[in-house]
Amino acid sequence: MKLTELTLTQLRDGLRQGSITSVEATQAMLARIVDVDNDIRSYLTITDEMALEQAASADARRAQGEDTPLLGVPIAVKDIIATQGVPTTAGSKILDGFIPPYDAFVVDQLKAAGAVILGKTNTDEFAMGSSTENSAFVTTSNPWDTERVPGGSSGGSAAAVAARLAFAALGTDTGGSVRQPASFCGVVGLRPTYGRMSRWGVVAFASSLDQVGPFGRTVADCTALFQATAGYDRRDSTSLDVPVPDFEAVLTGDIRGLRVGVPKEYFISGIEPEVEAAVRAAIAQMEQLGAEIVEISLPHTRYALPVYYLIAPAEASANLARYDGIRYGPRVDGENMIESVKRTRSLFGPEVKRRIMLGTYALSTGYYDEYYGRALKVRTLIKQDFVEAFKQVDIIATPTSPTTAFKIGDRADDPLGMYLADIFTLSLNLSAGCGLSLPCGFDSQGLPIGLQLIGDTLQEAKILNAAHAYEQSTAWHQQLPLTGAS
Ligand code: GLN
Repeated sequence: MKLTELTLTQLRDGLRQGSITSVEATQAMLARIVDVDNDIRSYLTITDEMALEQAASADARRAQGEDTPLLGVPIAVKDIIATQGVPTTAGSKILDGFIPPYDAFVVDQLKAAGAVILGKTNTDEFAMGSSTENSAFVTTSNPWDTERVPGGSSGGSAAAVAARLAFAALGTDTGGSVRQPASFCGVVGLRPTYGRMSRWGVVAFASSLDQVGPFGRTVADCTALFQATAGYDRRDSTSLDVPVPDFEAVLTGDIRGLRVGVPKEYFISGIEPEVEAAVRAAIAQMEQLGAEIVEISLPHTRYALPVYYLIAPAEASANLARYDGIRYGPRVDGENMIESVKRTRSLFGPEVKRRIMLGTYALSTGYYDEYYGRALKVRTLIKQDFVEAFKQVDIIATPTSPTTAFKIGDRADDPLGMYLADIFTLSLNLSAGCGLSLPCGFDSQGLPIGLQLIGDTLQEAKILNAAHAYEQSTAWHQQLPLTGAS
């Protein structure tokens, strides 16, 4: 087996046993990135020199008897997460050339765990999108079919993991941006509970919804990265000061007696029949494994999309006010200060401008109660649906997205069509739970289908173990896209 085909946990075993060095693994990944990433374009920046230094230092530390959780493991980081000394663009021209003077909390965690950082991955501008087509720089291709999108906004991270261009990667999920690309690329992606890891150093999109999340080729890989990056940090007042359990230890694969809720509102018209069939088969498989399947209702699901598209743009319009050309990134000079700010802000792409306008409108005097205020009330109803559901069940199973990966360009001029890609993921962000997507089959075109498992607040262990049990009883995760195979 090629080094780059190892899963993260296999690599970690090899590093621990001394049969592989981190420098070998890092060189193999960097060489593959050079060979293959011209077709996938998952990376915006490749930090090859830094990666090789980190790898050499990891090997040296291991030789001294050290063994931190990700010692010597090459990882990719979404380009919306600040990395000291390394460009961080958020996929936007307005941050082109911006080099953060500090690391995000999760990057600190990665470094403390001994990880090697390969580079920064592509994203829709400010994480607004579902395809990476809103990136100001490039559109990433889906490794299963390069004419198709990888999903988004963390499409670069999902594609990098699927194409074996990183052993795991970090993304962010505000409305589905980890789970939906994981589903489109046939990898595992976790959106942890809001506050499970500090958002310090993550470029803010919608602060009440944003959360960092890990991608891996297997549930165990995703868990290993989650374990290393989760945690409290006082610099983010919304991060939760709770203990981080040993998630890797809970992957027993035993789900006998687990109550799995299947919400009827998630099997709507518009869902592709092959997606529905694969998800229903996966649920039946979980029943085979000893889970108890319970039909449930999440009655306010249909309001999630409009509520999200009021709250997220409202928060974004406030967060993005800071980009004035004075403090970060490039500045386009005009005759006076106002002109300079105007010109600089015209560096935002069309989707970002659309969100700023939507958000500013929803927050403006006279409309606040009618739009933003009402959206907050309905958000409470959506949250309440989950509170009720989790009285009856341990986890909830749904499709991750109604379709498999669509063609590049197909929805680029259709914002509403694009928004629908997240119809099944948004409710979770509006509530207080956690969720993941894992592969549960392929459609007749060979494109991956994702199963979403949702858990209650801080119950990541339950969904990770259920996902692991299902994964270990199937072979979907063993199929790899042919990218670069020759
Ligand atoms: N696609 C959704 C949006 O455009 C979600 C994005 C995200 O989770 N960052 O807002």
